[in-house]
Order: sequence, then C-alpha cells, then structure tokens
Amino acid sequence: MTYHELRINSERLREDMDALARIGRRENHGIYRMAFSEGDMAGRAWLRQRIEDSGLVFFQDGAANLYARLNPNATTPSIIAGSHMDTVPGAGHLDGALGVVCALEALRVLNESSIELKHPLEAVSFSDEEGRFGGMFGSQAIAGLVTPEYLHNASDLDGITLSDAMAAQDLDAGEALHAQRHPDSIHAYLELHIEQGPVLDRKGLSIGIVDAITGLFKWEIALTGMANHAGTTPMDMRADAFQGLAEFAGQIDRVLSEYGSPHSTATIGRVELTPGAANVIPGRALFSLDVRDTDSHILNTLSDAFRRTLSTIARRRDLMFEFTVLSEIAPVQCDASVTSAIEVSVQTLGIPATHLNSGAAHDAQIIAGIAPTGMIFVPSKEGRSHSAAEWTAWKDIEAGANTLLHTLKQLAT
Ligand SMILES: [Zn+2]
Repeated sequence: MTYHELRINSERLREDMDALARIGRRENHGIYRMAFSEGDMAGRAWLRQRIEDSGLVFFQDGAANLYARLNPNATTPSIIAGSHMDTVPGAGHLDGALGVVCALEALRVLNESSIELKHPLEAVSFSDEEGRFGGMFGSQAIAGLVTPEYLHNASDLDGITLSDAMAAQDLDAGEALHAQRHPDSIHAYLELHIEQGPVLDRKGLSIGIVDAITGLFKWEIALTGMANHAGTTPMDMRADAFQGLAEFAGQIDRVLSEYGSPHSTATIGRVELTPGAANVIPGRALFSLDVRDTDSHILNTLSDAFRRTLSTIARRRDLMFEFTVLSEIAPVQCDASVTSAIEVSVQTLGIPATHLNSGAAHDAQIIAGIAPTGMIFVPSKEGRSHSAAEWTAWKDIEAGANTLLHTLKQLAT
C-alpha cells in the first residue's frame, strides 16, 4: 500500500459510530451521556473494550481522560488526536463522539499498516467537555488549569459536586491535579469535529480547515429606570429600561461595523423585563450580551465600544446601568504547521475544502495553550447541533476521518 492509498475502514468506523450512538440514547429524546452519569460510564466502558480489542494500549489519566496508545515506547513527543464522548442532555450522535471514534480508527489503520512511526500516537476522549461540571475538565487538567479551588467549586445544576459524581464511579477527582502534561511531551494535537454552524453545508464542502477558534466575552447587563403606570406617565417623564435596551440593541450593527471584523458577532440572547406587565413601564431590563471574535485586540475594542454605547444611552434616558462579566475566553490561533499538514492531506485525497474559524469552544482551545493544535471540521446539516437532529452525510464523515488519518500519518513520519 502506498501512502496515497491509505484509507480508514469505512465499515468498521460506521459500526463503531452506530454502537456508540446507542449508548445513553433515550427513545425520541436523543443521547444522555453527561459527564460521569451512567450513560457516560457505559460509553467509557465501550471505548475501553474497543481499544483493547484493537490491540492498542489503553490508558486512563487522573482526570479520567481515556487514551488509546500506539507506539507508546518511542521517546519522542506524542501526537494526540481526539475529542470528547460526554454530551449535553438530549444530544445528537456526532458532537465529540465523531472526533474520538475517528481518532481511534486512524490509530487502528496505522497500527495495521507497515508505516514506520517516529512518534507515539494517542487517541483521547476528554472528560466533561460539555460542562455538566463547568466544561473542558479533562483538557484543562492536562493543561495544568485544574486547581484545588476548581475541584472544590465544580458542581452541576442539581448541586452534585464533581468529586462526589466521580467518587460514585470509583474515581478520585483529586487525581486530576496530577494529570498535567509537560508541553514538551506533545508534538501536536488534532481534533476532528462537526462544524456546528451552517457554512460547509451551505457551500457544499466536505472539509473545513480551522484557522482560529473564537474568543468571547459574556456580560449580564442591568438597566434600571422607574416602573410606573403606562397610562398616566407622559412619555417625557419616563425612565423606561426597555427603551434603553431596544436602543442599545439597535446600535449593535453599527458598533460591529465600526469596531469589529467580518468575523465579529454580538448577541442578546436573554432578556428579562421587570415588573413584566403590559400596563406597567418596565423599571428594569436584565439582559445578556455575548460577543465573539478571533482577535483579542478586536474583542477589547468591542468591549470598550459597547460599554461607551451603554453609558451614553443610559445617561440620556435617565437609567442606571451595571454589568457583570460572566465569562471571558481568549481566542486561539491554530498552528500553521498543523494547518498546512491538513491542507496537504485534503489535496492528496482530492477533497473539496475551505478555511474557516470555529465559533464554538472546543478542547482544542485549551490544548492550544500547551501544544501546536489544528482542527478539522465536517459539515453539520443546517448547522444543527446540541440536538438529536445533528446529522452529517456519511461521505463527509469518511472525508473527515481520512483527512485526520493522513494528517496524523504526515505528522508522525
Ligand atoms: Zn464538542
């Protein structure tokens, strides 16, 4: 077999994707494999079995990340590929699972080939990417970002702590403090994932080569005026919090076009008016603002511009404004050498591809802090994700898996 003829075993990959999709599935409601739930544990047991069946070396680290290892005794740094198998409640079968199963398949094919590898290869499934306990627990542990405080504070919406949930599965959360890997031990990290957006589907392309993963800031903003009678208060004697919010929302496009980039987005996704009656002027508007871009300088500029805009509107309308920063995540650039290896793979395979950015967060964003990182996207039908309606054509899944395989082979030889 020449390098160019190297391909994943489509039938085996399909059987594995189908088998994993049945684990944690509830009839008509999608998949429930939230971190360290029964569904997640069943998925983990399945993966371990598949790794051992394939003759690869199984390994589990302190954060309960699961690995298949090929060529583990090489003294060179590892090339790691993977994603996560945990899901949001009612999930589809592709988010995360695709990246793990395709990484395993790529290692199996390389194991069966006679290709000589210069690096150890690892397929990984990271713990709690989706955030039952905050998100990206496994990748953060590897990057050394999990602290005793993190472990102390991590709990789910029902108040179950990460430590208790892990203990219930005979796992010790404290071990995550020892899961950190030295940057010198990782040569590259690759993640194959569904796009979770509409771009590839609309363009009819099989592969997206990710250049950057967007950063974001998320605020909760409160505009406070005066609740009053809708009939007796003249228009010029009001402090209407919703009017302030509406004016601010109307300024979003202007702020983005003046201070943003073509990649910038800003979203008010949640609004709460108080007191919330048809015949009362809203005294208070509480709303979210989610702003994203791939450039941290632009994010800072946008943050200033939105604050100025809010302050001007509030002053003119006699409103008080306060905001709380709910989260801030820095954007990440993918590594140029990994990205060009992906480029060579799609050219070798003759797969139609384009470059794009990731608007969603991924483990890759965390690992990029310690290792050269690249991401490969396949289309999401109509951009749908975090829903049982997630769907990608099999030919695109094959294209993604083969691109991952060829990129791993290039990086490892
Ligand atoms: Zn995911």
